[in-house]
Amino acid sequence: MPEPTAHEIYGVKFGQNLRGVRGHYFLGADGDPHDEQMRLDYYVWVIRSPGQDIVLDVGFTAETNKRRQRDHWENPSQALARLGVDPASVPYVIISHLHYDHCGDVEPFTSARFVLQEEEMAFWTGRFGPRAEFARNIELPDIRRMLELNYEGRVQMVDGLWEVVDGVWVQKVGGHTPGMQATFVRTRKGIVVLASDSSHFFENIEQDKPFAVHTSIVDMYRGFDAMNAAATSGIVIAGHDPLIGERFPAVPGQEGHVVRVA
Ligand SMILES: [Zn+2]
Repeated sequence: MPEPTAHEIYGVKFGQNLRGVRGHYFLGADGDPHDEQMRLDYYVWVIRSPGQDIVLDVGFTAETNKRRQRDHWENPSQALARLGVDPASVPYVIISHLHYDHCGDVEPFTSARFVLQEEEMAFWTGRFGPRAEFARNIELPDIRRMLELNYEGRVQMVDGLWEVVDGVWVQKVGGHTPGMQATFVRTRKGIVVLASDSSHFFENIEQDKPFAVHTSIVDMYRGFDAMNAAATSGIVIAGHDPLIGERFPAVPGQEGHVVRVA
């Protein structure tokens, strides 16, 4: 029998937010020190096997950052060049959810299929998406563009579980948004889970602390359990944590920008 494909995983940081405090990110349990400053890093992820790079999330552009005023270093599609990824030749882009910092820089991925939970698309085009507490986390042009891509036949709508390629699959977990999905990758270390915003920080999943922005705290807890159960490597990678850069080694020459996590 041929060896099953073992993928490599890289995190590419394209910016950060230095203005956040813990109160933006954590709920009030256990007297959390809400005023304490907390950095949030912006990443996109590359799942690499011979001859093929799959990208998880596409971040947001400098154009969007004019409104959001984060510490935006470069467009994610450009940052991927640090790993030699040509966006135009990426076959699949997994979109974890439709918040602005995950689905903005789609245009350079000219031949990709975008893998998205249908419940996520339904939510943002339905009754509750426009409500202020949800709408503040999206850019309407991003939602409109994803809808167009769907009509162009370029969105792979998923209902729950879907295998993208051998050894890479997505699973809806909900919690942060209704169609939030985590990504599961077979690596030499075992199965590694890329949580994206199913766990923004390691503290969320490792200390069982739900993130402050959510549509269902119950589903968020359920997601923590599902991701922990699936991660045979013991590794669940948080989506926005500054500790990513400390826990995993930098790719030589790309210190502060690219880490290899598996
Ligand atoms: Zn996010």
